[in-house]
Amino acid sequence: MLVAVIVAVFLIAVGLGVLLATVGGRNEVPSVLGLSYKEAAGKVESKGLSIEIDSLQDSSGDCSRLKVEEQDPKPGAGADSDEVVTVRLKGLRDIPLTRETNNSQPSSQPAAQGSQEQPEAGQPAAQPATAGHTVCLDPGHSNRSGSEIDPSTGLNVGDNSGASGELQTMWDLATKAKARLEQAGYTVRLTKGGANEYASLRTRADIGNTCNVVVRLHFDDTGFTGVMRAPVNAARCPASDPSRATVIDTGVANESNRLAADLATSLGLSVRDDTGGSSQGNGTPPGHPTALIGSVLSRVPVVCVENRVSLVLNNPTGQDQVADRLLQGINSYFQGH
Ligand SMILES: [Zn+2]
Repeated sequence: MLVAVIVAVFLIAVGLGVLLATVGGRNEVPSVLGLSYKEAAGKVESKGLSIEIDSLQDSSGDCSRLKVEEQDPKPGAGADSDEVVTVRLKGLRDIPLTRETNNSQPSSQPAAQGSQEQPEAGQPAAQPATAGHTVCLDPGHSNRSGSEIDPSTGLNVGDNSGASGELQTMWDLATKAKARLEQAGYTVRLTKGGANEYASLRTRADIGNTCNVVVRLHFDDTGFTGVMRAPVNAARCPASDPSRATVIDTGVANESNRLAADLATSLGLSVRDDTGGSSQGNGTPPGHPTALIGSVLSRVPVVCVENRVSLVLNNPTGQDQVADRLLQGINSYFQGH
């Protein structure tokens, strides 16, 4: 009898487990690193997921035997059944980006004689997208870590030092992106005065809130990439008082979504919800949707770009490419207005 009960309990437990796994609909992303594209496609599709080659790579030829050198999401990540695994293949060249801003440089293109439509020298060719817009670039992290409670929200807005090499790399990237944006006619504000300057997440948000949009620049050394948008009604609550939720405005969330979509297209990354990291502030009580503190304090459209490490770390050429694409994505966003 005892045995029968144990068996019955065991069967119920197994059944429940299977049921939960099925209801959850979650799958695990397999590792395809080092496999040929053909092998990778077979492995991904056998899990019910889809695969695609990074849209920034020229995949017009036969790619079946080329090896996967990067994948997004990373191996072991949870995946819904409609998840697309984006891979970068070794040996494919990146599709060059058209640099419209270069064409307006007087040195590369002598001014056409008597072209009355052109603005005066020194001004870039008329680009309505840029007119009067201020962009906040927020290079991730500070040179020290620590807690700092924001009195107005009760949130921990202390910053941390980020992944190895991230602090300097994101500063370099921000500097490059700033130069391009300014050349295109934008006003740019940085959230720090130098790579090693400390800025709390509150300070960063306060500066961002004087601008039209905020682009936060990061990379994650576990291989996590994406353009993180602030989801509608995302909230963050101080652990000390779960009733005090800081909520992202619906209008801000909708515009963040648009900004994320434009930047994701230009950067070749996926759009993801900013669901909060372990190190970006204190805990949120269960049941509350979350967003990273730096985003939840924003009252203007905000995205957090988690760049590909290999494209930016110790890679000045890659940084130039990303800076070009940040300008392209921001242009698309403002052109859409
Ligand atoms: Zn970071």
